[in-house]
Amino acid sequence: MGHTVTLIPGDGVGPELSTAARRVIEASGAKIEWETQEAGLAVMEREGTPLPERVSESVRRNGVALKGPITTPRGTGIRSVNVALRKELDLYACLRPCKHYPGVRTRFAGVDLVVVRENTEDLYAGVEFAEGSVEADQIVRLGGGRIRDGSAVSIKPISAFASQRIVDFAFQHAVANGRKKVTAVAKDNIMKATDGLFFRTAREVARRYEGRVQYDEWLVDAMCMQLVQKPELYDVLVMPNLYGDILSDLCAGLVGGLGVAPGANIGAGVAVFEAIHGSAPKYAGMNKVNPTALILSGVLMLHYLNENETADRVERAVAAVIAEGKSVTYDLKPRRDDPTAVGTKEMADAIIAKMREA
Ligand code: NAD
Repeated sequence: MGHTVTLIPGDGVGPELSTAARRVIEASGAKIEWETQEAGLAVMEREGTPLPERVSESVRRNGVALKGPITTPRGTGIRSVNVALRKELDLYACLRPCKHYPGVRTRFAGVDLVVVRENTEDLYAGVEFAEGSVEADQIVRLGGGRIRDGSAVSIKPISAFASQRIVDFAFQHAVANGRKKVTAVAKDNIMKATDGLFFRTAREVARRYEGRVQYDEWLVDAMCMQLVQKPELYDVLVMPNLYGDILSDLCAGLVGGLGVAPGANIGAGVAVFEAIHGSAPKYAGMNKVNPTALILSGVLMLHYLNENETADRVERAVAAVIAEGKSVTYDLKPRRDDPTAVGTKEMADAIIAKMREA
């Protein structure tokens, strides 16, 4: 049976990467019908909003989207389409597998981690009060001397509901993917109320998976040191939003950086698959950047659609092309100015050719 998937090409390098990813996925034999929905800067000029209602409607209807990066102009007041989409669809789980593929230059060979980040609350809830505002001054008073007068204040809400839902997501992901351990990460020695609640909730969820998936806990600072010293000891990491934002980039760095790091934002019955990197505007239209991250996001999508065989076929071909190191983009060459680097399209061609050889 085929699947209908919303394709959001995005802007900047998004359209060329989406074309590459789409071609590779189609060549894998996956039966996918694409419903293309433009969003981003050009749409803003035409339709007055960078994220028209038709886009989220399409994702909701199809339940799955593959999305290219979208620019968030700085200092213009234009809201981030990426954040808006996550909010509108309640995509509460950010999934970021960080796996090293031989051939990608990194100090850390063999890393294979998954970071699960809570996407809806914490300091990212956007409840902020500027210094001198009535609200900030009220909170300063509530602080009973613990907050300096004239402070700006950001609120960090953590709920049992969202913590339970994200930790359960991490355990389910572990079970479905044969992973052995879930590590919860927070800082409850300092934030006893919020991070204490996160850990307590995580422990309750972990009990339900006892005997199937191991569970442990780390303070976020110690976790950072562990990850750069012994990343092989960890498997699935789950954490609130801010720590997740930071650690997922750290883990992407462990395995070779932005060009190869896929991601997904997942909610109840709806999921958007996208690379971690942004729209790299300076390379837009140059057929230069690495399509791997979006193609691997497509691999995650195929697994989500239970197209496991085609997902494995694409992943094997990507891994083989990277291991060979010949038809790869500049960022995967030993030197960035290597004249043998190929373009986005040519790397996708090489991946397609590899699938046909197999
Ligand atoms: P960026 O990820 O777009 O690019 C930073 C640098 O990383 C690039 O200049 C390039 O050198 C390198 N890079 C990124 N992707 C690459 C790839 N596929 N292959 C090779 N090299 C690659 O980050 P930025 O410049 O901070 O952000 C640009 C725009 O993208 C901003 O408007 C930002 O808001 C947006 N953004 C969007 C998303 C998203 O759509 N989910 C995510 C992050 C940033």
